[in-house]
Amino acid sequence: MKPSEIAAAAAARLCLDCGMCCNGVLFQIVRLQPGDSVRELESLGLKLSRKKSAPYFRQPCEKLIECTCSIYESRPMRCRLFECRQLHRLENREASEEEIARVIESAKSAVENVKTLLLEAGNESLHLPLSERYDQVMAFESAHENLREAMEGLQQILNADFRMEPL
Ligand code: SF4
Ligand code: SF4
Repeated sequence: MKPSEIAAAAAARLCLDCGMCCNGVLFQIVRLQPGDSVRELESLGLKLSRKKSAPYFRQPCEKLIECTCSIYESRPMRCRLFECRQLHRLENREASEEEIARVIESAKSAVENVKTLLLEAGNESLHLPLSERYDQVMAFESAHENLREAMEGLQQILNADFRMEPL
C-alpha cells in the first residue's frame, strides 16, 4: 500500500468511530455547494431547506446510521471535502492513528458528559444539534453550572482539536 492509501484507510477507521462532523456535535447545518444535485440528494431522502440562501440540511444528519454515512457514494460536496484538524494531522504525519484515536475518545467522552447533563436538565430533543439543545436549556434556566462548564470545555476541545476555523 502507498503511504497515501495507508493514511486514507486510517482516516476511514477513525471517522467510523467518531462521526462528530455529521451528528450535530461540530455543526448545525451543511450547505450544498456548486456541483451538488438537489434533485439527486432529495431523491436519496436528504431533507433540504432553501430559506434565503443556498440549500442546506440540518444535523444531526438523518443519513448517518451508526456512525456510517448511508449515502456515502453520493454524499454532498461539503461532506466530501471536509477534513477536521485530526485528519490533517494524520495526513501530515503529525500524529499516529493511535494518538488521534485517543483525542477522539476524549472528545466523545466530553460529548457524552454534555448529553447526560442535557438529559438531566430535561432536554430530550435528540434530533437537534448539541449547541441548540444547550441553548434551549439555558434560555429558560441559567443555573446549570455543571452543564455550562461541560459545554464550554467541550467547545474548547472542538475548537482546538477538530474545527479548522473555531466557531
Ligand atoms: S470530525 Fe474528523 S475524525 Fe471525526 S468523523 Fe469528522 S472528519 Fe472524521
Ligand atoms: S450526508 Fe453523510 S457525510 Fe454528509 S453529513 Fe450526512 S452522514 Fe455525514
